[in-house]
Amino acid sequence: MSADAAHPPHTHLTPDTIRFCPLCGAGLVRQPVGPDKRPEMVCPGCGFIYYVNQKVVAGTIPWQDGRLLLARRSIHPAYGKWTFPGGYVDWGETVDAGALRETWEETGLTVELGELVGVYSYAGAPVVIVVYEATVTGGTVGRAGLSIHGGGGARFPGAPDRPRLTGSGSRQRATHVTSVSRSLVR
Ligand SMILES: [Zn+2]
Repeated sequence: MSADAAHPPHTHLTPDTIRFCPLCGAGLVRQPVGPDKRPEMVCPGCGFIYYVNQKVVAGTIPWQDGRLLLARRSIHPAYGKWTFPGGYVDWGETVDAGALRETWEETGLTVELGELVGVYSYAGAPVVIVVYEATVTGGTVGRAGLSIHGGGGARFPGAPDRPRLTGSGSRQRATHVTSVSRSLVR
C-alpha cells in the first residue's frame, strides 16, 4: 500500500469547501459583499459572513551547540519530509507562546525564543508561518510527543541519515527555513 493510499490527502477549510453557517447551521450562499462586491459565503439565516483566512502556524529553529534540530513529518501534507517544529497557534494564545508550546510538544525540548527569522506565506496556501530562532534550554529529544505527529522522529543533523543543514549565518538559516517551509505547505 502506498503512503498516499494509507494517508489520504489532507483537506482544508477554504472558501470553496465551506457549506454551512457555523453559528446557526443554515446553508451558506455566495453573495457580493462590501464596497468592492467581493463574493463571500453569507448565511441567509443569521447574516453571518464566513470570511476564510489563513491560519497562523508558529515554529522554531532550535539550535544547540551549533546544531539545528529538525523533525520529520508523519502526517500529511508533506509526509516524511523534514521540517522544523511548529504548529497552529491556539485561540487565545500568543504567537510566541504557540511556538514554545509546539516545540515542546513535538520535540520534548524547552527553548528560549530568539530573533524572528521570517513570516512565510504563499498564494493559495492555508497557513501563514511565523518562524523564530530558538536556543534549547532544557528537555531531551524524544521524551515528549516527538515529531509531527507520532513516529517520525526529531533529530539534530549530523549522522548519515540526517539532512546536512548546518549553516551558521542568518542568511543561510533563512534559506533553509524557506525551503523547509515550502515543503510544509505543499
Ligand atoms: Zn447563520
